Amino acid sequence: MNDEPRPTSSRRGLVTAMIGAVMTAAAAISTSVFRGGQAKANGNSSEPGTKERKVQYGMVIDVRRCIGCHACTVACKSEFDVPPGVNRSWVEYVEKGVYPNVGRSFLPRLCNHCSEPPCVSVCPTDATWKREQDGIVVVDSGLCIGCKYCIQACPYDARFLNPVTNVADKCDFCIHRVSQGLTPSCVNTCVGGARIFGDLGDPDSDISKLIARNQVTVLRGEMGTLPNVYYISADHTDEIDAGRPEVRKVEVITHRRDKKRR
Ligand code: SF4
Ligand code: SF4
Ligand code: SF4
Repeated sequence: MNDEPRPTSSRRGLVTAMIGAVMTAAAAISTSVFRGGQAKANGNSSEPGTKERKVQYGMVIDVRRCIGCHACTVACKSEFDVPPGVNRSWVEYVEKGVYPNVGRSFLPRLCNHCSEPPCVSVCPTDATWKREQDGIVVVDSGLCIGCKYCIQACPYDARFLNPVTNVADKCDFCIHRVSQGLTPSCVNTCVGGARIFGDLGDPDSDISKLIARNQVTVLRGEMGTLPNVYYISADHTDEIDAGRPEVRKVEVITHRRDKKRR
C-alpha cells in the first residue's frame, strides 16, 4: 500500500461519502517513434524562465542488450511476492517469419507511468493517481474497491486484480527502493544492463542523454497516453501484423495467464 500524502479531492470525498452511505445502508439490511526531447513533450521543461522543472521518473529499455532471461520478471515477483499467473513486469517473445527465415526478439514490459494515464480518470474512489513529486502512477490498496475499471482502461494490460488481495496491482517503479536512492529491482537485476531508470525531467540525467542520442519508441503511441517507458530497437510487431505479406507469421509469447497482448 502507498502511504504517501494524497492530493485533496472533493470527488474522492463525495465518493467516499457515497460508499459510506451505501455500506451503512447495506449493513442495515445486510508504435510511435520519437527522437530526443520527448521528456519535454511529456510536459517536462527545464528552460530558464519557464515553469519549474518536474521530476518524471521513467525507464529506457534497450532491447539490443536484452537476452530474454526473465531475471527482471523473477526479481519483481520476489520483491512484491506477486502470485502465480500475474505480473507487474514481464518479458514477451516476438517470433515471426516462416522457416528458414525466422527471428525472435524480446520485449520487456511494465506500467508506462503515462503522463496522460487513462487508468487514473476512471477510478471511482481515487485509489489510483499520478504523484506530483515524481510522476509515478500508484495504487492505494486501502481505497481500492476492486472494480477493475482501471484494468479495462489501461491500453497496455499493465494492471491486474491481485488474486490474493483482490485489489488493483501493477508496477510502481519500486518506490520503496527509489526513495532510498536505489534503482528498481528489475533494473538492479538486469544482467544485460538493458533497463535504464532515471529522471526524464533532468536533461543531464543518463536516461535523458540516452534518449537524446537514440531513436526511441513507445508502446501504442497512438493512444495519446504519453508513456514514460521508452524502447531502443524494439520490435513492436504483434499478431495484427501477421496479415502483412512481409511478416506472414507472428507469435507473441507473453508467459502470462492471459496470452493475448494488449
Ligand atoms: S501503462 Fe496503464 S496502468 Fe500504467 S499509467 Fe499507463 S494507462 Fe495507467
Ligand atoms: S480497481 Fe482500479 S478503478 Fe477500481 S477502485 Fe481499484 S484502483 Fe480504482
Ligand atoms: S533481466 Fe534484462 S536481459 Fe534479462 S529479460 Fe529482463 S530486461 Fe532482458
